Formats: sequence, C-alpha cells, structure tokens
Amino acid sequence: MKLSVSIRRTVLIIWLLTSAVAFAQQAQLTSAAVEKRIDSILQKMTLEEKVGQLVQYSAGSPTGPGTGRSNYEEMIANGQIGSLFNVSGAKKTNAMQRIAVEKSRLHVPLLFGQDVIHGFRTTFPVPLGMSSTWNTTLIEQASRLAAQEAATDGIRWTFSPMVDIARDARWGRITEGAGEDPYLGSHIAAAYVRGYQGPKLDDPLSMAACAKHYVGYGAAEGGRDYNTTEISERTLRQVYLPPFHAAANAGALSFMSAFNAINGVPASGNPFTLRQVLRKEWGYKGLVVSDWNSVGELLPQGVAVDGAQGAQRGIVGGVDMDMESNLYHTHLAQLVRAGTVPQTLLDESVRNVLRMKIVMGLFEHPYADENKSTFGAPLPDSSRMLARKVAEESFVLLKNGGSGQPVLPLKATAGQTIALIGPMGDDAGNMIGAWGGEGKAPDVVTLKQALTDFTTKSNMKFVYAKGVELVTAEPTGTDNISAAVEAARGADVVVLALGDDAGLMSGEAASRAHLNIAANQRQLVEQIAALNKPTIMVLFSGRPLVLTDVEPKVPAILMAWYPGVEAGPAIVDTLFGTNNPNGRLTASFPRSVGQEPLYYNHLNTGRPVLKADLTRLPRTGEEKYLSRYLDELNAPLYPFGYGLSYTTFSYSQPKLSATTTSAATLNGGRTGGDIRVTAEVKNTGSVAGQEVVQLYIGQRGTSVARPVRELKGYKKVTLAPGESKTVEFVIGRDELAFYNIDMKNVVEPAKVSVWVVPNSAAAATPAEFDIKQ
Ligand code: BGC
Repeated sequence: MKLSVSIRRTVLIIWLLTSAVAFAQQAQLTSAAVEKRIDSILQKMTLEEKVGQLVQYSAGSPTGPGTGRSNYEEMIANGQIGSLFNVSGAKKTNAMQRIAVEKSRLHVPLLFGQDVIHGFRTTFPVPLGMSSTWNTTLIEQASRLAAQEAATDGIRWTFSPMVDIARDARWGRITEGAGEDPYLGSHIAAAYVRGYQGPKLDDPLSMAACAKHYVGYGAAEGGRDYNTTEISERTLRQVYLPPFHAAANAGALSFMSAFNAINGVPASGNPFTLRQVLRKEWGYKGLVVSDWNSVGELLPQGVAVDGAQGAQRGIVGGVDMDMESNLYHTHLAQLVRAGTVPQTLLDESVRNVLRMKIVMGLFEHPYADENKSTFGAPLPDSSRMLARKVAEESFVLLKNGGSGQPVLPLKATAGQTIALIGPMGDDAGNMIGAWGGEGKAPDVVTLKQALTDFTTKSNMKFVYAKGVELVTAEPTGTDNISAAVEAARGADVVVLALGDDAGLMSGEAASRAHLNIAANQRQLVEQIAALNKPTIMVLFSGRPLVLTDVEPKVPAILMAWYPGVEAGPAIVDTLFGTNNPNGRLTASFPRSVGQEPLYYNHLNTGRPVLKADLTRLPRTGEEKYLSRYLDELNAPLYPFGYGLSYTTFSYSQPKLSATTTSAATLNGGRTGGDIRVTAEVKNTGSVAGQEVVQLYIGQRGTSVARPVRELKGYKKVTLAPGESKTVEFVIGRDELAFYNIDMKNVVEPAKVSVWVVPNSAAAATPAEFDIKQ
C-alpha cells in the first residue's frame, strides 16, 4: 500500500504552515518598523545604558563559577543589566521586571532566561532520549508545552536546543543533544525551535530558542568537557554547522557561543564562525549570547591578557551579550570611548538585544500572570499523557532473547511474581535527568510505583529489592546483593533497574574515561543472572554505555534513558506490550571505550576490513595491515539507527525512478534531477508495530572522500501484522550536495549507492545511480 494521498497532503500542508511560520518570524526580524523603533530607543541611550543591554547575570543557583555579585536590583534600576537568568516563578521575575520597567530611566524590560532543556514543570526524557523517538512532531509538542509552562512563570528565553553533534560517548553532554547525525540533528533542531517559539513570537506564551553551543563543542578532544577542538573547515561545514543552520532557518531567536577553541580560536571570540558564517553567509539577525563566563575564559585560553582584551575579543569576535563574565560591564564603555571597539559594533549588538525584546512583545507585556503560575500545582493529565507518549517512543529495545526465545513482552499472568531489583527501581530524582528545569521528584511515578499498581490490578505478586546503592566507583557498605538474590529467587520474572546517577554521571562536566555500569551493579547482574530467570535489564543513562560485559548475561535489555515524570507507567506499558518499542539509537554504543570517537558516517580508509576475522589476532599480513584493532572489533555493539520491536519487518530491494541524473540540473536548481526511491516494508510478525525506515546514501568518485553511509531520509511507519507499505523518499540537491575540494556546496558527478534499511549497519545490496556531468 502506498502512503495515502491524504497523508501526503497533510504532510505538505504541515510543511507549508511551518515554513510560513518561519518566514513570518524572519519577516518580523527584518521589519523596517522594528528597526525604526530600535533607532528611537538607541538615540536616547547613554553609552553605559547600551552596555547594560549586553550584560547578563544568573541570579539563581549557579551552573558555573559566579561573579560574586548580588546587587542586581540596583544594577537593573541603573539600566546596567539586559537579561537575568535562573530567576524563576512569576512572582520573582515580575519583582525584578518592575524595577526595570518602572525605575530604570528608559524602561527597557528585562529578558528572563533559563535552561529549559527537556521540559519545565513536566519533565520529558533527556534530549538524547527524545531524539531516539525519531519523531519531530512529538518533540515539537513537548517543547511547546515546556514553553507554555516556562513562559507562564516568567521565562521567555530558553537556552535550548543543544544542537551539538556528539560522536563521543565519553562526553557527558551527549545526553543534551540529538546524537551523532547532522541530518537527523537538523530536523530535530528545527522541531525544538518551532515548539518553543510557537506560531507567534509576541505571544506571551512563546519562548525564544537558543541554538547552542556554537560551534563544535561536541568535538572536545578525548571527550573531555570544555576541551579544545580541531575541526577541519570541511567537517565543520559538513557535520557540525548544519543543525545550527537548520535552527537559524527555523527562526531561532538566539545562538549561544561555545566554550571550546576551534583550531586555536575560542568559539566565544571567533570572527570566522560568528561573523563570517553566521552573520554574512547565513544573514542571521538574532542575538548571540556567550556561554557561562566564556568571554572571561578567553584569558585562560590565552587570547587575552586581561579583562579589557577579553571583552574586546568577545564583542569584536561576534558575541553580543556577555553571560556572567562581568567583562562587558567592567570594560566595554571604556573600550568604546578609547576607540578600541567601534561604536557601530556596540550599537549593532544592542540592536540585536532590543530587536529580540521587541519582537517578543516584551515592551507590551513585560509581566507574567502570577495567578497562572504552575509552581506547586499538580501536573495536568494531558501533560502527563504527552510525557508518557514521548517516553514510550524514546525507549530502545537493545536485546530481546538474543538467539533464544524473546522474553518480552511479558504476559500479565495472575498468580505469577515479578521481582524488581536495582537502585533505579524506586529512584524518582534520577528519572528527571541532568537538566531538570523545575521538574520535581514528587511528580515522578517510579517503576516500583507503576509495577505495584499494575501487578495489583492483574492479581500478580510483586517484590522489590534495591540490591546495591547507586554509586559511581566502588561498592558501598550498604549494598545487599544477597537480599536481592533472595527476593528474585522465588520470582517468575526479574526486572533489573540499573544505570548512572543522572546529576553526577551525565550532562555538563561529566566526562568519563570508563563507560561501564558501576562495579557493584555489575556484581548484582552477575548474581541475579546466575538464577537463570527471564531477566530484563532496564537501563537508565544519559549516554551510550559499554555493555559488552553485561550484555551476554541477560536475555533482554531496554534502554530507558532518563524518561521523565511518567517513567514508571511508560516502562510498564512497554514491558507488557501495550507499547511496542519503536525508539532507535541516535548515538553508537561502543564495545569498548578505545573505539571512541565512534560514529557510523565515517570515511572509508584505504585499508578497510572486508573479510578478516577481527575476533582474534591477525595470522597473516593480509589480516594485520588493515585499519583495525588487535583487541577489539571495529563495529559498535549497537549501531546508529538500531532498535528492536516485538514484531519483525522485512524490506524489499529499493527501486529508483532513474539510474542517472545530472549534476548540472541539480546544481542549476532545475526540475527533473531528483531521484525517487521506493521500498516496500512489511510487518512480518504477529503484532502491530512502528518501524523507522531509514534511507542512506554513499557516493564514490567525488573530489573529496564521502562517508561510507549518510542518513538522508527517515520515516516512521505503523504497520498492522502482515501489512506492507511502500515508503517513498526523494533524493535531490539537498541530499547530494557536499563541500567539495574547492569548499563549494555542490553536487558532483558520482556513483551513488542507496540503501533503505532498518539501521546504519544493516547489510543490504544497494540500488545504484550515476550522477553525470
Ligand atoms: C552551559 C550552558 C548553559 C549555561 C547557563 C553553561 O555552563 O554550558 O549550556 O546554558 O551554563 O546555565
């Protein structure tokens, strides 16, 4: 069956509407009336008041070294602050806003920001989990709800989405993004922006997005947070920039400049990325804010000897607003007076701040409605339902029986006993993840709570034992593995709830050189596994882990990330088959840390491994002189795009609408160059399921080497048992163009392989077409 005409029409209408919204928002950013209004404010401003607009402080709990300041009220009244963050709750933001609007000379309102990363009051899965849904509609809905909740409480600016490509699981911040792929990452970036900003920027319930961390932050050497990066211009343009460009095109009102240096030039004073690419090439009209003290960090990074030089490098380099370093506040006016920073440059940055405040309607409605505050109110059912849906789609079934019988889904058999074992089974706080916003542990339904409810309703028996403490290094004295083993001994099924401490082990400043689950948890796995029961390991983590040691010991593994407030019910729905898992990995799971950085869309080497057996030492020169490890396979344990279902799917060989196309036609923007790809996907199992059908291409014969495979399309389809659907993709200029030897984004003559497969590593014979001159 073809995707029906009505579905295609709906997709087209949605596309037209979202493009129209982005277009209307761009129009506001470039409107002459807005610029006139900015002129009239600028004319009245003193130099100090202008600088004030470029200054931002955190007036709440810090996420970095503080400035030691606390006299915010006085500074606001003097017009010395443009934005505050980490002040949340309508009462508090209104109190500060009143000072700006009523007491400062020009009455310019403040902009309140916060890290609303995966929900505000209603916590959704961490972003890496959200990305595993491959469902941009859901991501947009989740961010819309987050915006409505946050804006109700006075927050009109979120420092999200993080659109950094992350190819290294050692980097803790991999949890905050959409994984390793620029194509999927770009779609997801745009979805967050649409969700946060909504259809109208000046709606009091819209929230400005901030694409961060511009740029290359995820390429930190050794996966160590804040570390320097070396990224060739081609890789920057091909891999790291596209999600930012997508966010800009979707109308993101702001960008955050990163901590890292790129090829020796810190990102928060980098004229190439900020002025050349962002402003000149992309024509970006939004605001650039630094990361936390990243202008101040230009000193230890070695490109400034004192605060004045730091401020000068920051603003000349393209950072409009200084978050937390205090250097603009201290030095900028003097630098402008001395002519070291041109007045025009300062004015341009102030314009970017005022433009944002104007288009968001802050001058018209600066205050939040205190009666509507969500603080302390119970979460509405509709919000919980959305959180549960997103959580369910984010789960990735990594293993289900292996070569033996599937263990999942479980049957609710009256009289049977389920044992829940492990430190994550009843840990509400960890379900919130690393950037919880205003999410609260008491709002979380844990797995223990949900299983208790479910087993009671189903007349099943339920036992729970924690087994071990959630520790990060060595076992503690309070572990009680033998009690857990005893609890599990009489059970028919064991659910092992394991993982990493969310706050300590994932997110910012949480890089790791080892990626195994904690030693005491591994002991627990071993002893429970020895009971030989049907055992399901449910894993809570913000990053890909090395599971090579525990994977053979358990028949089933469900990756649950940190799922948010509806963790328990979503997992129970999944264990018992009400939800058939349909999440797919967006970051490769390594077999061993030594494989990192690890990503599917790598280039081929001149000595690829084609046939050699990598499970043993090489025996011949042919086996040795290859691009390989002596002691590990090259492939990940679980590749990008991977995830199992309770049903199975078969794929037909893809069919192409033509076997040749022309580079000239595609580059010239003329019609007729596109290649249509169709493949039939069939549900060959006995239950309904959703499959993420993935289109990959590979190109050979081009002026620069291209990745072995690149994702260029995906569709999530629902199939009843026995049902088939023809899934269609279009490969055109956008899919085929790349930065060539002359650093031009063009389509070149090439031989193109096309795969329509269930994951990036699935073996299949590709269809092929040629791109002629
Ligand atoms: C992080 C940013 C965050 C900022 C404000 C920094 O430490 O890198 O992602 O938005 O703090 O909290």
